[in-house]
Formats: sequence, C-alpha cells, structure tokens
Amino acid sequence: MSSSFTHFNSINEGPPCKCGIPAPIRTSKTEANWGRRFLGCINYKLPNAYGFFYWIDPERDTEKEMLDANNKDMRRQISVLTKKVEEIIRENKVLRKKNEKLTKKLQEAEAQVFDYKMK
Ligand SMILES: [Zn+2]
Repeated sequence: MSSSFTHFNSINEGPPCKCGIPAPIRTSKTEANWGRRFLGCINYKLPNAYGFFYWIDPERDTEKEMLDANNKDMRRQISVLTKKVEEIIRENKVLRKKNEKLTKKLQEAEAQVFDYKMK
C-alpha cells in the first residue's frame, strides 16, 4: 500500500489541513489500531473542524498476526519435543544394553540352579 503522504517525516511537515495547520504524524491509541500511525489535524475536536485524517500505516491483519504467533509457538514446541525424543532414544539404547546384560546374568543364574538341582 503506497501513500502520497509518507514522505512527510517531521511532525510539523504533514500536509496542511483546510484549517491551515499542517496535520502532524500521530500514533493511534485505540485498541483496534494500537500503534498505527496517521496524519491527523490537531483541531479535529473544534466545532466545524475539517479534521484532516489519513492512515500512514496499513491496516493490521490481526488474524494473520495471531496465526504467525501460533506458528512460531508450535515450531518452538516441536523443537523442544524433538530434543526430548532424541533424549529418550539415547536413554532407551542405554536401558536396552543394561537389560541385555541382566538377562544374560539371569540366564546364567538359572542355569546354575538347574545344575544344582540335577546333582
Ligand atoms: Zn484542521
């Protein structure tokens, strides 16, 4: 979105309102447009004011922002879960080896008991 007014950078260099005062760059404080800059006549509250008004920043796509934030959060969660899975795989390998050793020991012990019973 291009604007013919975005080249007015200084607060006093906005295009002149019909009331004769340049409309300065201001920042919206409303919930719907928080932080969105606009050119607005400072006399807008006066009776019969022309009240020049023009948005500088494009309208925010809050749905997209929410989806982007969600996406970022999910990526972070995936990264955390991937690390956990890798950790569990390593732990599982160690436990499998321990289990193999213990199974072998148990078989040896069972064989000894069997030999003892046969005597
Ligand atoms: Zn004005």
